[in-house]
Amino acid sequence: MLLVHAHPDDETITCGATMARYAAEGTSVTLLTCTLGELGEILVPDLEELAAERADQLGGYRIGELAAAMRCLGVTDHRFLGGAGRWRDSGMMGTPGNAAPRAFWRCATDADAFAAAVAQVCAVIRETRPQVLVTYDQIGGYGHPDHIMAHRVAMAALDRAAETSGDGGAPWTVQKVYWTAVPRSVLQRGIDALQATGGVLFEGAERAEDLPFGNDDDEVTAAIDARAHCSAKQDALRAYATQISVDGPFFALSNNIGLEVLGIEYFRLARGTAAGERDAQGRETDLFAGTTP
Ligand SMILES: [Zn+2]
Repeated sequence: MLLVHAHPDDETITCGATMARYAAEGTSVTLLTCTLGELGEILVPDLEELAAERADQLGGYRIGELAAAMRCLGVTDHRFLGGAGRWRDSGMMGTPGNAAPRAFWRCATDADAFAAAVAQVCAVIRETRPQVLVTYDQIGGYGHPDHIMAHRVAMAALDRAAETSGDGGAPWTVQKVYWTAVPRSVLQRGIDALQATGGVLFEGAERAEDLPFGNDDDEVTAAIDARAHCSAKQDALRAYATQISVDGPFFALSNNIGLEVLGIEYFRLARGTAAGERDAQGRETDLFAGTTP
């Protein structure tokens, strides 16, 4: 299984329990992270000096956070696209970070940069030969430039890896491709559960439709039950101390509807054929169902 994510912490937030489950089952799980997340906010006051506009060392610090999180999830193969620091966090859409020399979003306008990034993902696909690849949808879940670019680069690399020509290594066709997802009904249950205790989810959104992310329920084709790995996911979230507050929405949710919201993760099948057991909503329950070694 290969997961292509934009910043350290995205993988744990969207797929951490799933990664822990498959790793525990003996599946080889490779995480490929495209940037170091240099422009993330810093929630730990003592570490503010790391910020981009000061020492600009947050990216290096987040390498350590990611490594600690992967230890929690039992994932031993984690890499940065092109090596740590090759591609820089682009910041939110329309900000000056988009145009920084190594910004990942430059791949949107620089054909050579895009080709280089695609070749780097292609090389990892041909080396690790995954049956299943997980990344984001076309809008990167919520519109962050690096998430959008992770999607574009990963999808182009799938095609490149399957071609007979190319950058070395034997061709490899990935059998199933999934995009991360969250059904709006699940978001709504989270909002309701927090409101019942006086809490708020994401700046006081009252309806799932108010959030900048979320999928129509019928778009969501797979639900992976990894509740047995909830505590590993919580530990991994905690490892991202600069990014994820223990008073924030994930931990608030885990205190309320906990196991369900942290331990069942959702995906959309983007390539390949749905197979195997289905849950009550008709969703696949195993990303590997129907694949052959
Ligand atoms: Zn991200």
